[in-house]
Amino acid sequence: MAEATNTYDAIVIGAGFAGLYALHKLRGQGLSVRVFEAGDGVGGTWYWNRYPGARVDVESQEYSYSFSEELEREWTWSERYASQPELLRYLNHVADRFDLRRDIRFETRVTALHWNDREQSWSVSTDDGEAWNARFVFAATGALSVPNDPDFPGKNSFNGATYHTGRWPREGVDFTGKRVAVIGTGSSAIQSIPQIAQQAAQVFVFQRTPNYAIPARNGPLDHATREDWLAKREEKRQRQRNSLLGALFADTPDTPFSQTGENERRDVLERRWAWGGLCMYNLFPDLVIDPAANASARDFVAEKIRGIVKDPDIAEKLVPRSYPIGTKRLCVDTGYYETFNRANVRLIDLKATPLDRITPDGIRTNAENFAVDAIVFAIGFDAMTGALSRIDVRGREGQTLKNAWDAGPRTYLGLMVAGFPNLFTITGPGSPSVLSNMVVSIEQHVDWIANLLAYMAPFGLKTVEPTLDAQNGWVDHVNEVSSMTLFPQANSWYVGANVPGKPRVFMPYIGGVGAYRELCAAVAANGYMGFKLRAA
Ligand code: FAD
Ligand code: NAP
Repeated sequence: MAEATNTYDAIVIGAGFAGLYALHKLRGQGLSVRVFEAGDGVGGTWYWNRYPGARVDVESQEYSYSFSEELEREWTWSERYASQPELLRYLNHVADRFDLRRDIRFETRVTALHWNDREQSWSVSTDDGEAWNARFVFAATGALSVPNDPDFPGKNSFNGATYHTGRWPREGVDFTGKRVAVIGTGSSAIQSIPQIAQQAAQVFVFQRTPNYAIPARNGPLDHATREDWLAKREEKRQRQRNSLLGALFADTPDTPFSQTGENERRDVLERRWAWGGLCMYNLFPDLVIDPAANASARDFVAEKIRGIVKDPDIAEKLVPRSYPIGTKRLCVDTGYYETFNRANVRLIDLKATPLDRITPDGIRTNAENFAVDAIVFAIGFDAMTGALSRIDVRGREGQTLKNAWDAGPRTYLGLMVAGFPNLFTITGPGSPSVLSNMVVSIEQHVDWIANLLAYMAPFGLKTVEPTLDAQNGWVDHVNEVSSMTLFPQANSWYVGANVPGKPRVFMPYIGGVGAYRELCAAVAANGYMGFKLRAA
């Protein structure tokens, strides 16, 4: 490691929703803070994912910061689900409004974090060869920020253009007149395929596993909705924070499926389908627990797919069969299933005819050659652990995070790792994170940690880290709660199944945003139970 040139109270890695708020909050507590961001601008997810159709699938007002009422009052969302350009404008506005840029170093990637026991601080290396020092490090590196490598045989032989949805070119892509292959049918593909199909001459969709997509029913956000939100803002924000998923659509009905009458079940399903979006998650309180509840929702969506897609064979291929609904992230679409009624769109079922290789002209399956001009890899991310695993993190006595997480990530409350003092993982594995409206979870994490630092300062406490017992207990609890659900049945990125060789561990905490918040509050109220707090 090079000699440290600059020392800060805190270093924050990443300038997405989490990094920006961490900077603002810590600065407000009088700490000196430096943010490092690999991209050349703020925004994180909304900086990198510029593919056509990219938009949030939580309602815009809900997917926004709540920490500043003024900010909320001065910003007007134009659509029910904000598009990527609008979200990026919002995050740039936040950076300007709170004068954040002066403490952010862009185009700088953190490559190593080494704990220095003598100094009780982190030595931080960046890819420009510089070294830095900080007592606290905030990994605001994102749960979905490292795109999966399209490691297909023959990939480099392709003569046409290739794109990854998670690293879309800033200037956009014109597919007019082009033959385009899209590999993947997750949320990114489901949002982009209808847009690409409107432009391209021909689209080939390569599907390994079909997903459940619920219509977004997006549209302009009217004045009355905005005014209502602002008038009831405080109450709505409180409800969000105490809800299951960090969003108001998550106000789950109380009656379990088994006690809901046949007609009412149908009514609930139809109403949620008509309302659109992620509210399908909480049709019944036991949707992801009771197989019968789940089956009824699966049958319902399958029926809808069959009603939209005109060709019965294609419809059958689009119906998910291999996992319970909701146990892979639900997708929210605008015209996805309808797209398969277009003459220029073809679905290729990779389960029936596996992808053999990429060729100079296109894609070859074991049944056919597909000549294309461009390939879009919509193949997702090395989720939750990907960004940290790409940093050389060494804690006490030189132990590496790689080793500590060899069999899957282990944290206490998703916030910290035993043996890695003063390193905070925002929306880390073991927290509600990706199972929630992430802005709500980000604010909760940053606020909780900021309170912890404020608690430590007057006592002269310099380090904090979880005990191994507390961490083991939390990991057991996270596993226990997830094993009570149908989630582990799915080969999802929640369990790392999309990355060959990744240990199969259910990574997020499924106990709910409100319950988790209460647990964190109780830990703090009990003198930060489970944490070791030490003076120098
Ligand atoms: P990010 O926004 O991912 O920011 C992390 C930043 O850290 C990145 O800019 C990255 O460049 C930087 N970084 C990482 N490693 C390093 C390093 N070593 N050195 C320097 N910089 C580094 N969530 C929802 O709740 N609702 C949604 O509708 C929703 N839609 C999504 C749509 C897409 C296409 C994707 C990919 C994710 C979506 N998410 C959604 C999840 C989304 O990631 C979060 O909502 C939120 O934006 C995460 O913010 P963050 O700051 O934690 O991470
Ligand atoms: P994803 O959900 O992981 O989907 C990736 C797709 O690529 C899957 O269909 C997967 O198939 C397929 N795939 C991966 N590797 C493949 C291979 N080697 N061969 C063939 N197919 C392969 O990724 P994503 O669509 O980018 O979404 C990731 C997450 O980001 C979402 O779940 C969501 O949390 C968030 N997101 C949200 C929105 C939104 O609507 N706001 C939009 C985009 C993303 P398998 O299923 O078989 O693995």
